[in-house]
Amino acid sequence: MLTGNHLIAGTWVGGGARFASATAQEFSAGTADHVDAAVQAAEEAFASFGWSTRTERATLLRRIADEIDARGADITQIGTAETGLPTARLEGERGRTTGQLRLFADHIEQGDYLDRRHDPALPNRAPLPRPELRMIQRPLGPVAVFGASNFPLAFSVAGGDTAAALAAGCPVIVKGHPAHPGTGELVAQAIDAVIQATGTHPGVFSLIQSDGIEVGTRLVQHPLIRAVGFTGSLAAGRALFDLCAQRPEPIPFFGELGAVNPMFLLPAAAANRAEDIGTGWAGSLTMGAGQFCTNPGIAVVLAGPDAARFGEAAQAALADTAPQTMLTEGIADAYRAGAQRVADSPSAQHLMGQPCSGREATPQLFTVSAADWLQENPLQHEVFGPLGIIVTASDLTELHEVARKIDGQLTCTLHFDAADTSQAAALLPLLERKAGRVLANGFPTGVEVCDSMVHGGPYPASTNFGATSVGTLSIRRFLRPVCYQNIPVSLLPEEL
Ligand code: NAP
Repeated sequence: MLTGNHLIAGTWVGGGARFASATAQEFSAGTADHVDAAVQAAEEAFASFGWSTRTERATLLRRIADEIDARGADITQIGTAETGLPTARLEGERGRTTGQLRLFADHIEQGDYLDRRHDPALPNRAPLPRPELRMIQRPLGPVAVFGASNFPLAFSVAGGDTAAALAAGCPVIVKGHPAHPGTGELVAQAIDAVIQATGTHPGVFSLIQSDGIEVGTRLVQHPLIRAVGFTGSLAAGRALFDLCAQRPEPIPFFGELGAVNPMFLLPAAAANRAEDIGTGWAGSLTMGAGQFCTNPGIAVVLAGPDAARFGEAAQAALADTAPQTMLTEGIADAYRAGAQRVADSPSAQHLMGQPCSGREATPQLFTVSAADWLQENPLQHEVFGPLGIIVTASDLTELHEVARKIDGQLTCTLHFDAADTSQAAALLPLLERKAGRVLANGFPTGVEVCDSMVHGGPYPASTNFGATSVGTLSIRRFLRPVCYQNIPVSLLPEEL
């Protein structure tokens, strides 16, 4: 049963204005007082949680995963109703969410993430003795997490940011996304149940529902918040990033702001596999109505008959795709506005795509020469949804110019065959400078949650190119190294 309230440090709190979800259920809209209460409780909780054992936190994470699974049917039911995502997608995403929680439990038990270092004392060293030095990664303190609209489970209330922060030992305050407040509340109920059952300090987790920017603004400016995890638009992410930087004490803002995720087709691959790559691209573009941050919005290929075959195959596959429901009306409106921006370009040619209305999205395909794409800034930006642009380069030099011109990306993909190897070797160093993940002969949608994953990249793909928001390395966002010099062993953190 939904309360329509916020979970603030173990208590379900309402009051104030209300907003309606897509299913017409009403939710209390958070206020500055809710934020202050949640952050204060989180700071109090840090006094114990920040020094909890890895075993205690691993148990907490595994039990949250179990509790979410136990409530899986209800979560799927409300999740599909709120987001329009199909049942199979919600169930798959739940598996990913609980899998992430369990992966972090295993990860912290192994302990490598602590990066323990020890330089023993050298009392007889000349000319100066060396003190005893030990280093370890320590949790930051209370962390703010923004639930993402496009992953109501895996990047939301108990998603990757929350799992990584709890694993690190940081209390979490989630600003729920108004696209799925009921889903968020059910997941928060699961976390609350585990916190109560394990006797964990209730300030370790709070969820504040909201449909406006006040809660998020207050949260990132609160002096006790030590870091922020965010997935969303460039405009919102940049505004929040700037607020974090302008604080009297700036804090890190780990924003994942999307990308166009370009694919580059080298000549032999295009000659040998144009149809297969075109069909696969269409599948990747339309997966989840194109609402993935790794959606490959641009394909760069040498102009000629192979490019034409590639485009025809993509067009045929896209024509077979039925209209899909987008996450919110606002996102569907933004998709149409983005498609119109491309259509308004004097040089882009519309290859296919029917008009759409309401929350529906239909795939749209355009083509443009690389020479024009290089000149036209509006064509270089992400359109969130199933829209693809084929960029045709006159030769490999121009294809390299496109690679040099692209902004920071989450992913870049190379399609190449054996005969392309030397050209792939020449292109790879350019792509590596642009993206957090470089792929060969695949499609970037479907992000593996594992030790080696990097889901980030140079700005604007992310606001912090040294970090990832997916995979075990993402725990590093919520830790900082502390060096202990000549501190007696009895006073050191247990881990040392
Ligand atoms: P959004 O507009 O970026 O909003 C994300 C979160 O930030 C929401 O909780 C929102 O609060 C809050 N927010 C927005 N502007 C803010 C501001 N100026 N100050 C403080 N908080 C602010 O993303 P969205 O609503 O999910 O979708 C809109 C567009 O974002 C999409 O069309 C797409 O282009 C992009 N997007 C990108 C990704 C990605 O993968 N990087 C994922 C999702 C969406 P309220 O909603 O409560 O106002």
